[in-house]
Amino acid sequence: MQMQLSFWEKATMLQYEHVVIGAGFVGMHIALQLRAKHPAASIVILERGILPTGASTKNAGFACTGSATELLADLRQSEEQDVLQLFDLRYRGLAYTLQLLGDKAIGFKREGSHELLSSTESYALDELDNLNCLLRPLVGVNAFERNNDIVGTSRFNRDTFCGAISNTCEGEVHTGKLVMSLYQLCLRNKIEFKFGVEVQEINQLQSTVCLTLASLSQKLDIVANSTFIATNAFAKQFLPREDLQPGRGLVLITKPIDDLPFKGVFHMHEGYYYFRAIENRILFGGGRHLDMATECSTDFEINELIKQDLYNRLHEDIAPFLAPVVDYMWTGIMAFGKHKAPLIKQVDKTIFCAVRCGGMGVAIAPLVAQQCVSLL
Ligand SMILES: Cc1cc2nc3c(=O)[nH]c(=O)nc-3n(C[C@H](O)[C@H](O)[C@H](O)COP(=O)(O)OP(=O)(O)OC[C@H]3O[C@@H](n4cnc5c(N)ncnc54)[C@H](O)[C@@H]3O)c2cc1C
Repeated sequence: MQMQLSFWEKATMLQYEHVVIGAGFVGMHIALQLRAKHPAASIVILERGILPTGASTKNAGFACTGSATELLADLRQSEEQDVLQLFDLRYRGLAYTLQLLGDKAIGFKREGSHELLSSTESYALDELDNLNCLLRPLVGVNAFERNNDIVGTSRFNRDTFCGAISNTCEGEVHTGKLVMSLYQLCLRNKIEFKFGVEVQEINQLQSTVCLTLASLSQKLDIVANSTFIATNAFAKQFLPREDLQPGRGLVLITKPIDDLPFKGVFHMHEGYYYFRAIENRILFGGGRHLDMATECSTDFEINELIKQDLYNRLHEDIAPFLAPVVDYMWTGIMAFGKHKAPLIKQVDKTIFCAVRCGGMGVAIAPLVAQQCVSLL
């Protein structure tokens, strides 16, 4: 049903200079970048959920530059220059966020970041020196160090893990605090939010864009000078021809565990599994590669196969002596493409998109947004 509008609503509430669709990390950073360039412009973020409902509020909070086996696999599959560019984007993106919001506000910590190696991945130990040589011009130090002791001191399963590599460039954030810090910063910068509003259509007019919104079974059109699509895995409806696939991720959290014997963040199996200590609990996620076809979905559902795999690995490999009890779990939806780099482009005269941050959005979102706004 088309919404009935008053004279006042028509005159003042339905026209903006800039509209951003999606209130995830990328959408909020786009709005902040726009504000920095256009101090007096009217800017609104339209979000279909009551809370942002994609990946930004669901992730594991690794401010990650990539594990050694992940980077080595990328180097085998892609051009060296592309791999280094993406590493640089992740590294600089994290520095940007820390400068913008501050360590404390986002719960940033460097308690150690480690990759646990199975016997088939121990080859990575021999390739560390080469990897460090490649990355040193970007970070100024050795990004990776051998750290086999951590398997024993953390009481992981020594039959599963034969070694470990520490990453000196990564850290961890409290995802909830990061989202809320960005939200508060947007409010302080006079960026308006409309929650519970789904954009259904975007039409480029002569020099403006008409957006059809739906909320509570009512429809409404608003007009904007420019529009930014930051709906990540849900962007296919607006970008049907782009290389963009959803990828669902499952995460569980245990009940608090007394004397948890490790701190920091951990990767396994080229980054397909990840876990961390948070407030005496273990947060553990991944396993998407076990059932890629089913996990290529935008539905927030739990895959029983992956759930069982995470339970088994938690009990057998990560916490074999701790009898962890799973408290609850959730899913979130990422976006991937054939290329690992994000998709940032001008879609029409005054329509732009910044999507497909994969499993890297915590770190890269601000610079992805910056690149997108520079296209305007
Ligand atoms: C389980 C999981 C673990 C992860 N772990 C990490 C990690 O440790 N480190 C890391 O760097 N990255 C991680 N990621 C990835 C990271 O969360 C994403 O890359 C990042 O959040 C993407 O941000 P975004 O703003 O592009 O998209 P999103 O956060 O998905 O935001 C898109 C928003 O658009 C809204 N939307 C969609 N369609 C519409 C519409 N039609 N109208 C209005 N609004 C709409 C959605 O509701 C959503 O809020 C993880 C992701 C998941 C799912």
